[in-house]
Amino acid sequence: MPELTDAQLDQLIIALGLTERPRRPGRRPTAPCGTPAAYKRHIRNHEPIDDACRAANAKHSSEYYAAAPKADLPPIAHGTPQGARQHWYRKVPICGPCRDAYNARRNGGVK
Ligand SMILES: [Zn+2]
Ligand SMILES: [Zn+2]
Repeated sequence: MPELTDAQLDQLIIALGLTERPRRPGRRPTAPCGTPAAYKRHIRNHEPIDDACRAANAKHSSEYYAAAPKADLPPIAHGTPQGARQHWYRKVPICGPCRDAYNARRNGGVK
């Protein structure tokens, strides 16, 4: 069997559809450090986690949990200025009695 020349090898490679070099998995753009995505990548790749990524993930998680409803909170004290603050704190649309109570407190000058 005669040895293939370089030209013949090239033709063979093209014929087999191997013209594209195999892609390296690490080559695609990755999230920079200091983002939750980079933190997840460190976990996935079993890499040491740097402070920037750790902080980014902690912030991300705390924002996530802050947005989640808190089941263990006491009910809103509707119709009081405190109730109005509870509405805002929990990102619940304020109700009429709470808004009235807050406005009355603010406008009435009650200490
Ligand atoms: Zn990192
Ligand atoms: Zn209310």
